[in-house]
Amino acid sequence: MLEHCKCGQRYDLDFRLVDYKKHVSIDNVPVLVCPKCEYEEVLPWVRKDLTALLQKLSLCEEPYGIDYTDFNELACIIYVIFTCSPADTKDALKAEIQESCTARINTLLDLYRCAKDAGDRSWMTEIEARLSQLSEKVYIDGQEVRYSSV
Ligand SMILES: [Zn+2]
Repeated sequence: MLEHCKCGQRYDLDFRLVDYKKHVSIDNVPVLVCPKCEYEEVLPWVRKDLTALLQKLSLCEEPYGIDYTDFNELACIIYVIFTCSPADTKDALKAEIQESCTARINTLLDLYRCAKDAGDRSWMTEIEARLSQLSEKVYIDGQEVRYSSV
């Protein structure tokens, strides 16, 4: 993760409301904010995932709003820890995020095995997509799960 702004100041993490084509409001998108020069950018790992999400959004209905943390596992974990955790140092927060990710990956892997046993292909694909938001590579029973490219 990028830690410092071009001006040398350490970034702060924050969440923003992003408007897409004046049609969809996406709330709680994680961003890096420089407290000194007010430079702001979407987190690098969010960019690709957000682009993929935007491409899937329907623009036919009335304008509507969604919450990004409903669509991205890691954003959800970070949001919960960011808003609820008593940890007050970046290292403590990072450790807590790491721990939550590991727990969530284990839950998803359990679900993945259920989906596999049930032979439910579309459920498996959905879980794979969620796993890929938390980790580049995940192994199930010694086999690497390959994610469909987004
Ligand atoms: Zn700066």
